[in-house]
Amino acid sequence: MRAWIAMLGVLGTAGCDDLGDAEPCDGYGGGTIPSCNDVPELCSSPVTSTVLQPDLERAIDIVFVGDGFTEAELPAYRDRVDDLIHRLRSIDDYVASHPIRFNFHRVDVISPTSHLTNGDRTDTALGGCVRRDSHSGDWWLDSDGGLISLAAHRAPDADVVVDLMNLDGGRPNADPGTGPMVPSTVGNAAPIIPRTVRISLEDGGETVLHELGHALFGLADEYSEGGEYHPAWAFSTDGDPLVQPNVTLDRHGRKWRALVDGAEEGGLRYDEGVYHPGRSCRMRNATEPFCPVCKDRIQHVLDAFAQPLANDGPPRCAIYLSQRPDQVTGALSAAVIGYDENVAVLGSLRLDDELVLDGTRGTSPRSFELFAVTQVIDTTALANGAHAFVARCLDGTGLVSEVSVTITIAN
Ligand SMILES: [Zn+2]
Repeated sequence: MRAWIAMLGVLGTAGCDDLGDAEPCDGYGGGTIPSCNDVPELCSSPVTSTVLQPDLERAIDIVFVGDGFTEAELPAYRDRVDDLIHRLRSIDDYVASHPIRFNFHRVDVISPTSHLTNGDRTDTALGGCVRRDSHSGDWWLDSDGGLISLAAHRAPDADVVVDLMNLDGGRPNADPGTGPMVPSTVGNAAPIIPRTVRISLEDGGETVLHELGHALFGLADEYSEGGEYHPAWAFSTDGDPLVQPNVTLDRHGRKWRALVDGAEEGGLRYDEGVYHPGRSCRMRNATEPFCPVCKDRIQHVLDAFAQPLANDGPPRCAIYLSQRPDQVTGALSAAVIGYDENVAVLGSLRLDDELVLDGTRGTSPRSFELFAVTQVIDTTALANGAHAFVARCLDGTGLVSEVSVTITIAN
């Protein structure tokens, strides 16, 4: 089911992926955070901090950790991280323009080996490995979010973690973690898995700025690398089921018309079916500056770190269908998606006033973002003709949104 849902979680930049005879990751890592008793060696890793904003609540604390660096390779890791911090602070972008908003911490993690391409998650400190990406076929950097979280919390605060992997290749990517997208004063549970960026030795400061665009600011890729985006049939309370501010299914780009006129096809790594603001942007090409739509979003999130939002309003609510609604036959899958930037969402779905889903909590990696799929509905058991779906989304502050769609069954 997930293939036809726009996910925030798997995002990368185009780059080199030549890793020779790599073996894919053995299973999936993360999900739970081990304790210092489980992995004592991670909890003795030394930390070096550059604190420019002593109010850690207001600061954006970027924590670097390393995977696949043996004790002998630690000096190379330290040099590389210090150089990246210097680059982030000197490239003309959001870090350089807000110099006292960002703190940097480097955690010196020692790995028993530097074997990051053998599929084995147990022979480096942070469970690093590479996996094939289903869309591009490229090797994708991976690691264990639970181990990363434990290592990163050696730092005094961790708003986003950059995992530098000791590899020459593999595609960098970002994971938005499990916390709220925007700092807020309501329902703000601490994230279980922190926002994480994974990079290799090939990646420079511009690529880190792009990946932080995903992890810190919730931006989508604006580049394309083949294929048509199949969002299924989606009906949303705000007209656009894509929650990222810089991509849309609307060829006219109405959601950013206050900032940019029009839209260009391509985005979310697809050539067709999705649109981006149509100017050069760091979310399209890491060496270019951000477009006005992305800049606006970055400023919004930076402002929320300085002064957390009380509430972002009612949740977005959407119904996703696996078939076009005017000619439904056979098995139909229906999902309700609720999205809120700061609090968890519950959702329900009715078909002809009968509950199909009730009070369902999301199963998405982001706890405030609801992802609930019905049992597949056998439409041959229903009468031909018109039927109505109504989805209801309720956020943790009591605000409600509803969206409905009429389907026509023609078996
Ligand atoms: Zn952009």
